[in-house]
Amino acid sequence: MSGISFTLSENINLAPYCSMKAGGNAKYFVEPKTEAELLYALKYFKAIGERYIVVGKCSNLLFPDSGFDGAVISACSMKGMSVENGIVTAMCGETLSSLATTACENSITGFEFCYGIPGSVGGGVYMNAGAYGGELSNIFVSGRFINESLEIVTLTKEELDFGYRKSRMAFEGLILISASFKGEEGNKDEIRSLMDELMAKRKRTQPLEYPSCGSAFKRPVSNFAGALIEQCGLKGTSVGGAEVSEKHAGFIINKNNATATDVINLLNLVSDTVFEKTGVRLEPEIRIIE
Ligand SMILES: Cc1cc2nc3c(=O)[nH]c(=O)nc-3n(C[C@H](O)[C@H](O)[C@H](O)COP(=O)(O)OP(=O)(O)OC[C@H]3O[C@@H](n4cnc5c(N)ncnc54)[C@H](O)[C@@H]3O)c2cc1C
Repeated sequence: MSGISFTLSENINLAPYCSMKAGGNAKYFVEPKTEAELLYALKYFKAIGERYIVVGKCSNLLFPDSGFDGAVISACSMKGMSVENGIVTAMCGETLSSLATTACENSITGFEFCYGIPGSVGGGVYMNAGAYGGELSNIFVSGRFINESLEIVTLTKEELDFGYRKSRMAFEGLILISASFKGEEGNKDEIRSLMDELMAKRKRTQPLEYPSCGSAFKRPVSNFAGALIEQCGLKGTSVGGAEVSEKHAGFIINKNNATATDVINLLNLVSDTVFEKTGVRLEPEIRIIE
């Protein structure tokens, strides 16, 4: 472990790091750049008995206004990507958009759906992020993880038990270091134009001009959360500064200095109203940290 160190910041406001631009302070905040620094930080916090969470771009996370009484370890500075025999290997801090761009530059198709999802590879694998008919489990080959005993393990797609917006990572406290993804050989121009088309569709249909966590709720079986919310007349409903987007009812946006509590109260209000009116219980897709 000699020669490895990290800067430990204290009492850091998390809101600027979170795409919802809400939430309180972290007791500790660290940004490791390498696998060794990440492991060092994890061992350090485990040794001192401090609670920790590894995060990516915080585009699917909400920390409470009271803050996080432990260490937030941001993996966003863990960068690096390589391509070999049609397989793209990315460090957990790379963005899903740069993963798609690298695949495109190497004429690999199958990654286009990632383009425009504002998360990291780590958060993407954790959530099995997906869009427009694709999801990461379709292209995931294997990953290097740190398990709860802080050992490094390699797990394949089959071992990761991917489901809709979930993977084994959530249930076993696995931390992703890097992952390999495989697509098919394709035509660079066609890949680029599909990526541009999907991005244009996002801009047209999603309220990207406001902070949010993307879709606030998981898609219920044989329905769409946004459609149910709209059907219940909830578009534009607000609690404090949080609002159900007029542009896309599936999004809860930070319209006007919303607190995390505003967002959580609005999530509950929407879920309860939709349940009363349709019998469908919407489950949050946003991960609310306690
Ligand atoms: C405008 C907008 C549009 C969106 N569109 C989509 C979409 O089309 N499809 C979609 O699926 N999602 C979408 N999202 C949600 C979000 O971008 C995804 O869920 C993304 O995968 C989250 O990645 P992240 O890096 O931000 O993860 P974070 O929000 O930082 O974390 C999410 C979870 O992953 C864990 N995690 C992160 N990195 C690691 C790691 N290295 N090791 C272990 N655990 C880790 C965190 O602890 C947390 O539990 C959207 C969000 C926004 C704001």
